[in-house]
Amino acid sequence: ASLQETYVRTRTASAELFRRAADVLPGSNTRSVLHFNPYPLYMASGHGATLKDVDGNTYVDLVGEFSAGLYGHSDPVIMQAVRDALEGGVVLAAPTRLEIELASLISARFPSVERLRFCNSGTEANILALMTAIAVTGRKRVLAFKGAYHGGVLTFPPDGNPLNIPLDVTLANYNDVAGTEEMIRQAGKDLAAVIVEPILGAAGNIPATQEFMQMLRRASSECGALLIFDEVKTSRTGRGGMQGQFGVFPDLTTLGKYIGGGLACGAFGGSADIMARFDPGAPGGLKHAGTFNNNVCTMAAGIAGLSQVFTAERADEFLATTDGFRKGLNALCAERGVAMQFSGLGSMFTMHFTGRTITGPADLPSHSRSLSQLFHMFALLRGVLVAGRGDFFISLPTSDAQMQTVRETVDDFIRVYGNLI
Ligand code: PLP
Repeated sequence: ASLQETYVRTRTASAELFRRAADVLPGSNTRSVLHFNPYPLYMASGHGATLKDVDGNTYVDLVGEFSAGLYGHSDPVIMQAVRDALEGGVVLAAPTRLEIELASLISARFPSVERLRFCNSGTEANILALMTAIAVTGRKRVLAFKGAYHGGVLTFPPDGNPLNIPLDVTLANYNDVAGTEEMIRQAGKDLAAVIVEPILGAAGNIPATQEFMQMLRRASSECGALLIFDEVKTSRTGRGGMQGQFGVFPDLTTLGKYIGGGLACGAFGGSADIMARFDPGAPGGLKHAGTFNNNVCTMAAGIAGLSQVFTAERADEFLATTDGFRKGLNALCAERGVAMQFSGLGSMFTMHFTGRTITGPADLPSHSRSLSQLFHMFALLRGVLVAGRGDFFISLPTSDAQMQTVRETVDDFIRVYGNLI
């Protein structure tokens, strides 16, 4: 309670905007995930890995736009690319050179993505990938995983969402090799697609095992279903995403978040053969339109990001340093003797309050969420902002001093609240 009192006393400008928002936005809200009690922070600006709220408080930004903020705020190279693009007109109602360049950069990073198409969000990319699988296989059923988040209208229990698009979905348990294989076999010729996040993100950044991913590849192929990797978030792990890490490649990949340089973006793609169905000349060809799919700002920002900032070498180096940091936090928890850990990989990880191995959402203790919320408020008041559910996303411009602040905040939290953990 005292943390919230301090929050209310010191975040009055945010409170005022929250009140005003209620007149036009239901529950003052247009992005459910950003709400927390008593009211969320309203941000005024961001630079590098630092956010400034409307009351003038600054934060080390570890929300990182839930991974879209890989480049941090106002990266100079990306800003210049967008400025240059704006000079030449924004909505040109025609293909441009830029989309070829961004597609080539993505395809070079993700060799399984021989051909791709752009859209405006990760949600759209997943819907389009699923619809592609349904059209290509002539089947209807989709196998997904409990706790998966594939976008605003593709959210599966435990969180669920009554607004989900009405797909015929069967849910399996993440990392359950034998159980999932059996479900795929049973679905057999009804199964159009298996869709999986190589790290189960919103459920707490829980990585898949190699064995699980290999089984999904084998079992999908055997039953003729398309395997879709949702790498909207995980594509930031190393130069080729998690498919590169595992050496297991899907039929279709979906991307988004940072792939458009931090502007609204989505993409889906796969083998030339599957994607040829989108050829306007193909008999029974698939149609996919979207006014802003190839908008020049996103294309230019994405090109600058991948070619000059998050290069393949930088991606690998960033994975190594950020995963070293995550492991350091785990070592700290072990040293302090608390049942606490940070699961995930590299620059995306989640704080959990259990000492046991986490292979799926069922391994997470029920008190974990309330302790994550406590940490969220505790850290926020010290100028470290993580997602309310305990997710950390490190962005490229985060300095060593900021990383040190994060580590000290975790350590202080353990010191103050260790008895609750
Ligand atoms: N897929 C995953 C794994 C995600 O984490 C998200 C967003 O958080 C999406 C898809 C949806 O992307 P967007 O928010 O751009 O629609």
